[in-house]
Amino acid sequence: MAGRIRDEDVALVKEKARLDEVVSQYVTLRPAGGGSEKGLCPFHDEKSPSFNVTQSRGFYYCFGCQASGDVITFVQAMEGLGFGEAVERLADKYGVRLRYEESTGGTAPRRDPHQRMRLIEANRAAAAFYVEQLSSSTDAVAGRRFLAERGFGREVADRFTIGFAPRSGEALLSHLTAKGFRSDEIVAAGLAGQGDHGAYDRFRGRLLWPIRDLSGEVVGFGARRLFDDDRIEAKYLNTPETSLYKKSTVLYGLDRARRAIGHGMQAVIVEGYTDVMACHESGVETAVATCGTAFGDEHARILRRLLADHDEFRGEVIFTFDGDAAGQRAAIKAFEGDQQFVAQTYVAVEPEGRDPAELRLAEGDAAVRELIARRVPLYRFVLRNVVDRYDLDRADHRVNAMREAARLVSSVRDRSKVDAFARELSGMVGLDVDEVSREVRKAASFGGRSQRGRTRPTDPNGAPRDQAAAPVPDVREPRFFDEREALKAVLQFPHLVGEAGADVDVHDFTHPWLAAVWAAVEAETWQSVGVPGWTSRVLAHVDEPAARAAATSLAVQPLHLQGDPGPSVVGALLARLQEVSTVRRVETLRSRLQRTNPIEQVSEYNRLFGELLALEAHRRALRDRALGGT
Ligand code: ZN
Repeated sequence: MAGRIRDEDVALVKEKARLDEVVSQYVTLRPAGGGSEKGLCPFHDEKSPSFNVTQSRGFYYCFGCQASGDVITFVQAMEGLGFGEAVERLADKYGVRLRYEESTGGTAPRRDPHQRMRLIEANRAAAAFYVEQLSSSTDAVAGRRFLAERGFGREVADRFTIGFAPRSGEALLSHLTAKGFRSDEIVAAGLAGQGDHGAYDRFRGRLLWPIRDLSGEVVGFGARRLFDDDRIEAKYLNTPETSLYKKSTVLYGLDRARRAIGHGMQAVIVEGYTDVMACHESGVETAVATCGTAFGDEHARILRRLLADHDEFRGEVIFTFDGDAAGQRAAIKAFEGDQQFVAQTYVAVEPEGRDPAELRLAEGDAAVRELIARRVPLYRFVLRNVVDRYDLDRADHRVNAMREAARLVSSVRDRSKVDAFARELSGMVGLDVDEVSREVRKAASFGGRSQRGRTRPTDPNGAPRDQAAAPVPDVREPRFFDEREALKAVLQFPHLVGEAGADVDVHDFTHPWLAAVWAAVEAETWQSVGVPGWTSRVLAHVDEPAARAAATSLAVQPLHLQGDPGPSVVGALLARLQEVSTVRRVETLRSRLQRTNPIEQVSEYNRLFGELLALEAHRRALRDRALGGT
């Protein structure tokens, strides 16, 4: 039974384990003057660094949360260890042999001070065993083929210390037992499971990636299925939660990426182990992946500490989301979630949906680097996905797209970003920036938080195009006034319509019943206007009962005019109808023009611009005719 560690050995550990070096495994430190360095505090959330490390005194202090201490208290706090465990861990790492005071009796806590070190040693020995198996075992040919098919040769496998777990189910156990590890240690390390008939190897017949903590120690494994007769169906298995391995905090590749992340002010989040390898091999050395879980707040916190800059956080976190629906949902979730990163979060989407490993295999290293370089801000990706669900050539859809996206923008907590996002949204939907800003403020005052997560509009008019048809609005609404008046004139005074009727089109009507009535008018020949019963013949062409009822009432309701109309009055009513519909087309065209980049899409832009000028001229002519009749 080991007792207290001798004081002189504790002092030796403090001397050898440099505080700045140990802290740097978790936090990026930069010179702060006066012999100190500073970074983002790992003990509280902050945006600008107040965590100071003074190596000469072996002491850290946070001006934000007043956390303070030396290298041992730091390791205790970061790893959740007791004093003795922290000292042992550092002693092991820095080559100090510890001596213990004689135990003073039964009052000392009965914990095994070696436990953590033993588990790390067991994982380390297992990793070496698995690496050896990959090159020597005959079964491992399946693993080597898996790697080769993905473009990873022997040297790459060595660099990433990839291994192979034999299929027998006890190979690792007997190897570790021979090395002096007890069965309960091997189980506690997550390397073996405990069955009714004793322990058994957790990983059998699988390709293994060792997962390391920030200091580079192996704490667990990710395992890929290779054989069809593998009784475990899951393609990937991970070490279960142990005292070393916590899936909410581990990131595959972080030990390799740590420095590059700190220097490059960039972290790339990919989805799989082979993607991490492909990125690093392609020169994107900031790539990491979560292990069997989604990217969460704990992961974000760890990266933030590595990305901290002098006075502000301005690093980039780049997700390689799939462009598919699941990826889009994940992006929206990230936008609505923690938000610590929102302004610095980017998305790299491969147009054909290939992940970095597939991309590298098909097109080489440069293609992977380009994929990351082509990143777009997450907010733009999310807004674009929302907006693209609408038919932006329709005015009502533009408004609804803007409303839905405005709710997302209003949920952004960093107020300084909201205006910029609103401006961008205005360009996307082709609506005035003031209108968009107004909508964002409105969404915010309605309590953006309760609205968050709702990405489907509830307004039945102008729903996304993949939704069912909207209910028919009341035909008596004021917005259909011009359409009703025009139809009344046509149905009641058809002989006065003359030439003016030729220019009217079914698309000039926005209400489906009124459009149906006009279609019926066109179906009946104008030549028969003088023949009695013309109006009833037109009505007979209207199939929909509700539309026919509307048509019947239009045929008898008086026009909103004084006295009887003459030909010029009917012509003016029809011109007015066409003017309103032309204004709608002008708006659509203008909005499309606003969404067209005049530099990148120059010919399309010029074509639309020409069309807009012509349409404006047409609108003015109709306006003159409409006014001429009153
Ligand atoms: Zn702090």
